[in-house]
Amino acid sequence: MFSYRHAFHAGNHADVLKHTVLIAVLDYLLEKDTALTMVDTHAGAGLYRLDGDYAGKSGEAAEGVLRLAEAAAASDTPLPDALARYMTLVREFNRGEALRVYPGSPFVAHQLLREHDRLKLYELHPTDAKTLSGNVAQLDAGRRIAVLREDGFGSATKFLPPPSRRALVLTDPSYEMKTDYGRTAAYVGEALKRFATGVYAVWYPIIPRPEAHELPRRLKTLATKAGKPWLNASLTVKSSRMAAALPGETSRRPGLPASGMFIINPPHTLAARLRPSLARMAQVLAQDANAAFTLEHGG
Ligand code: SAM
Repeated sequence: MFSYRHAFHAGNHADVLKHTVLIAVLDYLLEKDTALTMVDTHAGAGLYRLDGDYAGKSGEAAEGVLRLAEAAAASDTPLPDALARYMTLVREFNRGEALRVYPGSPFVAHQLLREHDRLKLYELHPTDAKTLSGNVAQLDAGRRIAVLREDGFGSATKFLPPPSRRALVLTDPSYEMKTDYGRTAAYVGEALKRFATGVYAVWYPIIPRPEAHELPRRLKTLATKAGKPWLNASLTVKSSRMAAALPGETSRRPGLPASGMFIINPPHTLAARLRPSLARMAQVLAQDANAAFTLEHGG
């Protein structure tokens, strides 16, 4: 069940998309003083080494955040707002030019949340849950952050609605089990019933598998039936076809070609804020001529 470790993928193109969108949503929600609760149903370990064994082996950050940092340093054209904000936040975890540490969603959120906001973190992998607890303990955040070693799909709706009636829920499973797609849609459906005005953000992979294609459609249906606005942003960095093996290689691992973020009840400013940043991501993180982005919204 637990072969997925986010440490292999930290800072890849999917994290660039997910965390740029997350920061843009949080920035907007935190313009209001009223307390915000953020629930992260699949939190991961919280912090990752980009110069450690896991990231080194996969090389995914090299084609994600590290490529973006290099491109930004080499260009006279500044990054668009949302992407610049993301790069600045990642840099806050690093001293000097080299990026060695990458913040996962719990630390991205903690960096932005205020004293009176709350963060509920779910992580089921025994090692990652322990690492997450250790990383969070160093923040000395007291009751502001709760780490729960529980099923994020199981009990995370219990925090909805929070007393302040303002919440952002990030659902970012590994989808290593096919059932994660159906469980994500069921979770969002249940959460919307309990708390229709919450903001729901779901990351999903775009891969040739029917459940993956279905998920954004199911989320759109849920939003439409609830009469709520939605936004769907996707980033493709390469074709989803398996690359041909080069002489001497037995096979070529395709890697993740594309992913998306689906938001229910997005900030009304989000589409305009994201568009130039998505265009730059598609340009800088392209791995072949199929690189592109999409941005739709409705409701
Ligand atoms: N949200 C993190 C970030 O952006 O930095 C990355 C999360 S990673 C894609 C998914 C995590 O969910 C993994 O660490 C995995 O161990 C954990 N996980 C898998 N099934 C879970 C479940 N049912 N409840 C909570 N966590 C789960």
